[in-house]
Amino acid sequence: MEHILVTNSLTKKYRHHKAVDGVNMHVGRGAIYGLIGRNGAGKTTLLKMISGLAGPTDGEFSLFGQTGKKTTPLFSRIGTLIESPGIFGNMDATENLRLKAIALGVRKKNHVEELLELVGLSHTGNKRVKNFSLGMKQRLGIALAMVGEPDMVILDEPINGLDPHGIAEIRETLCRLNAEKQITFIISSHILEELSKIATHYGIIHNGVLLQELTRKELHDKCSERIELTVDDTSKACTILEAMDFRHFKVVSNDTIHIFERLDDTGEIAVALSCQGVKTIGIVVKNEALEDYFLNLTGGERNV
Ligand code: ATP
Repeated sequence: MEHILVTNSLTKKYRHHKAVDGVNMHVGRGAIYGLIGRNGAGKTTLLKMISGLAGPTDGEFSLFGQTGKKTTPLFSRIGTLIESPGIFGNMDATENLRLKAIALGVRKKNHVEELLELVGLSHTGNKRVKNFSLGMKQRLGIALAMVGEPDMVILDEPINGLDPHGIAEIRETLCRLNAEKQITFIISSHILEELSKIATHYGIIHNGVLLQELTRKELHDKCSERIELTVDDTSKACTILEAMDFRHFKVVSNDTIHIFERLDDTGEIAVALSCQGVKTIGIVVKNEALEDYFLNLTGGERNV
């Protein structure tokens, strides 16, 4: 996957506090990149830097293959919804979008109508935005971020404060825009469970540090139900598992194998290993929920 954003030791200090600390982030073209972190983890600060809204104290990043000063004109290829989306409550959705299009010098015919259609707000007519539901306002915020057809859209906590129905609407909208318009998204949230329904890639940030980047598959592999088998000889154990017709297993360290099928067969496995001289040190069935995985990684209690 071609990376359209790569950060290199990106850092932002506020006095002596590092809000973002040496972040190396990689966002591929066409990805929906979920940036997950608790409140105060540094998500907004990081997103502001890569949108050109704040300058880094240290480090750099490349955007669409360009670094340093060459990135400045490229910020016009990024749409953002960070903090307040700059919505005028006394205007309707069309007027809000027209205003932004004029400000950006976008003249494309039917652009505003297309955007309204894309985010499902075509029916709102003259209704003033101040009378919109929170979900409708968020969708208008997304449409505003899409004025000028950016290649990448950055959304800071777009599902914050929404009810399950509103979250589902946003999710559906983003998936459609990603599929139909090939827009790359970076979406931040403090709720991994919600991001997990749409993100193709994840970055987990804590205390300003990007702890881990992983693909959807890698995250689901880590969290999926499995037998965790610890033995004194993994290669011999693998041969035995194959002979027992196991196909979905993986050696994850020099003494541990994860088995992703026939979770009821732990007894049978232990007996077969023992009969052939392999010592079983541990055999347990694990099912780590996504949120627990995030909590374990960042340490501490739920923060929702
Ligand atoms: P939230 O979802 O609560 O906004 P976040 O992950 O987006 O959290 P940031 O807003 O980036 O986190 O803040 C990271 C840290 O930097 C916090 O400790 C915050 O208090 C601090 N911070 C952010 N902006 C400033 C600023 N302008 N001046 C001083 N400190 C700041």
